[in-house]
Amino acid sequence: MWADLHCHSHRSDGVEAPADLVRAAAAAGLRCLALTDHDSLDGIDEARRAASALGGTIELVAGVELSCAVGEGEVHLLGLFVDPADAELARVLADARETRQRRGEAMVERLVAAGLDLDAEAIRRRVAGGAFGRPHVARELVAAGFAADVDDAFAKWLVRGRPGYVPKPRLDARRAIDLVHGAAGVVSVAHPVWYRDPDGTVAALADMGVDAVEASHPDQDEETEARLRALAGRLGLAESAGSDYHEPGRGRTVGQCRLGKSELDRLRGRAGGAR
Ligand code: AMP
Ligand code: FE
Ligand code: FE
Ligand code: ZN
Repeated sequence: MWADLHCHSHRSDGVEAPADLVRAAAAAGLRCLALTDHDSLDGIDEARRAASALGGTIELVAGVELSCAVGEGEVHLLGLFVDPADAELARVLADARETRQRRGEAMVERLVAAGLDLDAEAIRRRVAGGAFGRPHVARELVAAGFAADVDDAFAKWLVRGRPGYVPKPRLDARRAIDLVHGAAGVVSVAHPVWYRDPDGTVAALADMGVDAVEASHPDQDEETEARLRALAGRLGLAESAGSDYHEPGRGRTVGQCRLGKSELDRLRGRAGGAR
């Protein structure tokens, strides 16, 4: 098995440097890694250099994860094989990061207003110019003793209905698909099992023009994976696979979910722009 096409560095809500992820991927025997930070391509150059330094044993695919709206729901779309120099994509991502920054500050304000003695500056240091996400707040909540671990911090403070929850503006899914295609990339539906109606959501997105579905992901069991593969076949979609790795100690590892070489080539075959 060849490729892990979903992971996060400290340029978004992961904790490791892009180069460290590339080295971990090579050590795990991967031949291809996609860096897919939320709303950021800032880690791609560093990851590319780290891959080159390994002498071409591992390919680095430029990717990005976009939080999108489909009706009332939120879906995450992975843009893979994108051109990091695409100006329109860069502009939209910069806007999204600014929005995340404002929303992040609002989350912290709400938690402080709820009586938590949180260090806003410490949270800003965790974000450090990356794409601000709830995991940054969650880690500080753990460090300050307001939660047992990151999952507990989400459940107590950061999910809808809890004191620190602030919704995040989402990109229209059609717009996101066009944007990634315009940057020569392919679009895969991330972790379908997260959505209320996974198969229906994938089918609706297939109608809107996505290229693939992330059939293999740590949160999806083998039965789900088999069902998603069959669905991809029926809808004429390619497949992707990804560990969605963010940080050590949470039960995920780089390379945990892998795509075979022929599936990778099929996915890559859809990249390149005009369609
Ligand atoms: P955000 O984009 O700021 O809304 O944060 C979403 C990110 O938080 C996801 O990409 C996951 O990394 C993480 N996440 C979302 N929901 C949970 C949860 N219930 N428990 C732990 N982590 C979560
Ligand atoms: Fe994340
Ligand atoms: Fe996601
Ligand atoms: Zn992800």
